[in-house]
Amino acid sequence: MRANTWAGRNKVEVRDVPDPKILNKRDAIVRITSTAICGSDLHLVDGYVPTMQDGDIMGHEFMGEVIEVGPGVDPGRLRVGDRVVVPFPIACGACAACAAELYSCCENSNPNTGIAEKMFGHPTAGIFGYSHLTGGFAGGQAQYARVPFADIGPLKIESDLTDEQVLFLSDILPTGYMGAEMCDIQSSDVVAVWGAGPVGQFAMDSARVLGAAKVIAIDKEPYRLRMAEQAGHIPVNFDEVDVRSRLLELTGGRGPDKCIDAVGLEATHGSAHIAAYDRIKQAVRSETERPHALRQAIMSCRSGGVVSVIGVYGGLLDKFPAGAWMNRSLTLRTGQCHVQRYMKPLLRRIERGELDPTRIITHTLPLDEAERGFDMFKNKQDDCEKVVLKP
Ligand code: NAD
Ligand code: ZN
Ligand code: ZN
Repeated sequence: MRANTWAGRNKVEVRDVPDPKILNKRDAIVRITSTAICGSDLHLVDGYVPTMQDGDIMGHEFMGEVIEVGPGVDPGRLRVGDRVVVPFPIACGACAACAAELYSCCENSNPNTGIAEKMFGHPTAGIFGYSHLTGGFAGGQAQYARVPFADIGPLKIESDLTDEQVLFLSDILPTGYMGAEMCDIQSSDVVAVWGAGPVGQFAMDSARVLGAAKVIAIDKEPYRLRMAEQAGHIPVNFDEVDVRSRLLELTGGRGPDKCIDAVGLEATHGSAHIAAYDRIKQAVRSETERPHALRQAIMSCRSGGVVSVIGVYGGLLDKFPAGAWMNRSLTLRTGQCHVQRYMKPLLRRIERGELDPTRIITHTLPLDEAERGFDMFKNKQDDCEKVVLKP
């Protein structure tokens, strides 16, 4: 089959690779009809995640048709022919974390927990296409994928919604929603979102759906800010204005009630978290003058407010403003998204027309053009917001 693979720092390459096979009795094989490029893939391409190997298949946002199931897959839940969206965290459905609906912390889905233990002090769950840190699972930017615990994660789509309407249930719609849900939004709340990428856009839409009075979009890309503005959110360009001052102006001098970091690693530009890990020492770059989203969110949030972090972080973060966090009674919440928890309720919201995930798609390309898709998305060319690939 054809698959988009990691080919060294800042390089992906579509290659011929062996088709996946059923390895465990609860596996399924999915023929992929749509897959997408995510901001998280950029961390792999950048080399910030030190555990990719040449030839690893990328991609964790995908959907398609089940073409084969292992003998242990419960036929009451999944059968050949089903059309499914696959959540990015692989979860067993039976461990203590899964029982608590903390699916992205599943204790049974990562067969190689050594790296995670070394980095984070604890094992992490398996994730498709996300390096050997999270199990080395082949990803979904391919014609086919092997899906473990197939009768737990995948969401069956039984209506005639298009792929474009449901594909983002695999990751970024639940992630944006979880970012807003963690804020415990009240009807008078002003919610500020750092990052107007795909995840940020969905965090903004979710904040509105959950009742926020005002939603503010912070980024520097004019076209991304325009997209947020067209969806009804208030744009703030951090290249043009001092973000904290502007936020105080917009909130009667108190700061936003709730702040969402939908940026993550990009803004840390090297610094301590990279220097901490031997294998990525090469990647250290000097810290730039660019504002750091998480620090700025903590410094801007009103006293007693919530800072919700859905941007992905990999290791250490220096200059964490612990004083502001503690003395102003802020709540900090975060996590890789527990996608399985949100798929069904968000599908209902899509069906009811409360959320329109298609609004962020700017490019649809054949899988063979994945490299061009990555270039456009990474370098913000051609007003690229979200790329969908068709295998
Ligand atoms: P993206 O790279 O397209 O978007 C990030 C945006 O942040 C860009 O538009 C960039 O211009 C902007 N930005 C950079 N520095 C900023 C700053 N200091 N202030 C404000 N904006 C700034 O990526 P995306 O697909 O939207 O993903 C965003 C983040 O969410 C990534 O870190 C990704 O890994 C993470 N993510 C997390 C989960 C999860 O489960 N928690 C799931 C998916 C993605
Ligand atoms: Zn993603
Ligand atoms: Zn589990």
